[in-house]
Amino acid sequence: MVEEIEESISRMEEPSEEEGEGKIIHVAGPVVEADNLRGAEMYEVVEVGEEGLIGEVIELEEDVATIQVYEETGGIKPGEPVKRTGEPLSLELAPGLIEQIYDGIQRPLEGIVEEAGDFIRRGVDVSPLDEEKEWEFKPQVEEGDEVEHGDILGVVEETTTVDHKVMVPPGKKGVVKEIVSIGEYTINDTIAVLENEDGEEEISMKQRWPVRVGRPIKEKKQPGEILVTGQRVLDTFFPLAKGGTAAIPGGFGTGKTVIQHQLAKWSDADIVVYVGCGERGNEMTEVLRDFPELEDPWTGEPLMKRTVLIANTSNMPVAAREASVFSGITIAEYYRDMGYNVALMADSTSRWAEALREISGRLEEMPGEEGFPAYLASDLASFYERAGICELHGNREGSISVIGAVSPSGGDFSEPVTQNTLRIVQVFWALDTELKNRRHFPAVDWLTSYSLYLDEVSDWWEENVNEHWKSLRRETMRLLEKESELEEIVQLVGPDALPPSDQFALQAARIIREDFLQQNAFHEVDTFCEPEKQFWMLHLMMAFYSTGLEALDEGVTVDELASMDILEKISRMSNYPSEEWERRFNKIEMEMNEEFNELEESLELSSPVDEESGAGKISLSAEEVSLEEE
Ligand code: ADP
Ligand code: MG
Repeated sequence: MVEEIEESISRMEEPSEEEGEGKIIHVAGPVVEADNLRGAEMYEVVEVGEEGLIGEVIELEEDVATIQVYEETGGIKPGEPVKRTGEPLSLELAPGLIEQIYDGIQRPLEGIVEEAGDFIRRGVDVSPLDEEKEWEFKPQVEEGDEVEHGDILGVVEETTTVDHKVMVPPGKKGVVKEIVSIGEYTINDTIAVLENEDGEEEISMKQRWPVRVGRPIKEKKQPGEILVTGQRVLDTFFPLAKGGTAAIPGGFGTGKTVIQHQLAKWSDADIVVYVGCGERGNEMTEVLRDFPELEDPWTGEPLMKRTVLIANTSNMPVAAREASVFSGITIAEYYRDMGYNVALMADSTSRWAEALREISGRLEEMPGEEGFPAYLASDLASFYERAGICELHGNREGSISVIGAVSPSGGDFSEPVTQNTLRIVQVFWALDTELKNRRHFPAVDWLTSYSLYLDEVSDWWEENVNEHWKSLRRETMRLLEKESELEEIVQLVGPDALPPSDQFALQAARIIREDFLQQNAFHEVDTFCEPEKQFWMLHLMMAFYSTGLEALDEGVTVDELASMDILEKISRMSNYPSEEWERRFNKIEMEMNEEFNELEESLELSSPVDEESGAGKISLSAEEVSLEEE
């Protein structure tokens, strides 16, 4: 697929005089047919109608082209002209991308959008970037230096949080013949002249790149570092690696958008590209209103200073929605090429797939499963495949992590978009309607979700947090699995039929579910939980479980364990802010041990015990005495 696109792009050339104009012969919604388009190539951009609407050739038979139009085609009639451009659908890449809000084909949406749909002019004459703005360019090469693709010519402070590296574009190289001195330049000014065997070449801060082709890299590497999200169930149980891919399928209202927003706010990516294809009418309007007001928790600066938004409202033409994920990933690749860790969120890819289905329907293609075209799988793959942690030209490393929400109707994961996505991605965060109904958020189902990066990121956890992460995680998963098995038995025979250790397992599992897996995105502190805090929270909860099991052996009852004072403190751990939690957790650990000691001590006083365990308890009480003396 991608090779095919690359080939036709390489054949594209400016139309010659005698090739003339095409003419519209048929209009069907976003799909237009035109004849007399000699010399046109597949994926070539054409200007459609008197207004010059942007379209892309998606089928070609002799000189008749089928064109998907990225703008509203209302009012366009047969007989109107169609002009070739000799170019594929491309983006402009230069300083000024960050903080922008674009539609699916990089037209800026300005200001806050009250009435989505009425805010973009039709036609080709909208510039995606500010052409007048002057940026302070600081050169980093000297005349005579030999440079090639990926080398950094200079740097521009694009925002307070992003340094924009001005790179030698793909395919270019030479000796630096001229380089401007530090100063203010627009994105179209020449900042360097390169000399090579073909002559001289002027370089500006702007590059163009076709959206449907990945930007070249040296090689992909094995992911290893975790993308910190601050969401306990994700980081601790189903971690995503930087450069990895994740899917969030879930029925309506299960929390896909909330998770995507949490990742956009809290993940430790350098750059965030958020592609929104709104589920609900006003959802994108909310994003456009809310995002510009959010603060980046890592820098304290506005979140938009590291963010590019691509917004498709439901009333925008479907073809622009189809292109939007490719526009998003192209921007992500451009910043990855500078050496950044980029995170791209797409919410929801189901809306994107529906655009694909609608266009395919207009083309009267043979429908596949549930009406989606047969190429749904390869199109999805051509998007997710562009994620990765990469060795780049210019001897840098950068990554793109891609997180796609999927919204199967009725939460039924057997439908084609979910299934095809699952074949590609490495992390699966399954949102469950049953959990949502119980107000368990994030509604990530811990029994069906998975991460294929566990081995890759365990070194990261060990080095940065604690060497016991893997075993702690494994023990906890065992407990949660045990809970689900026991629950089946409880359904049949009731809880009292279980042995005390199993009753206590149910209690411990409930603590994990309610106080660890659940996390309130709207609570000031709980909204983000650093990995270290995640580890120690879980450590304490599992310590409660293992010490409790020992106490049961000694004769303490399940009811006594269930009414321990410490439980209330454990349930509040998530709300201790970062400057306090360590001290508080230490205190909780001490108090927990004391309370266990007291329980066992009272046991010894009230009932006769056998000699062996009795000996142990005497020494425990001695400890207790010395604590009281202090
Ligand atoms: P979806 O995008 O899957 O349709 P949303 O992300 O819009 O669902 O979530 C629906 C609602 O669920 C939210 O408005 C919020 O009330 C609740 N919710 C989801 N996740 C959380 C969370 N982590 N913490 C608190 N509430 C949540
Ligand atoms: Mg949503």
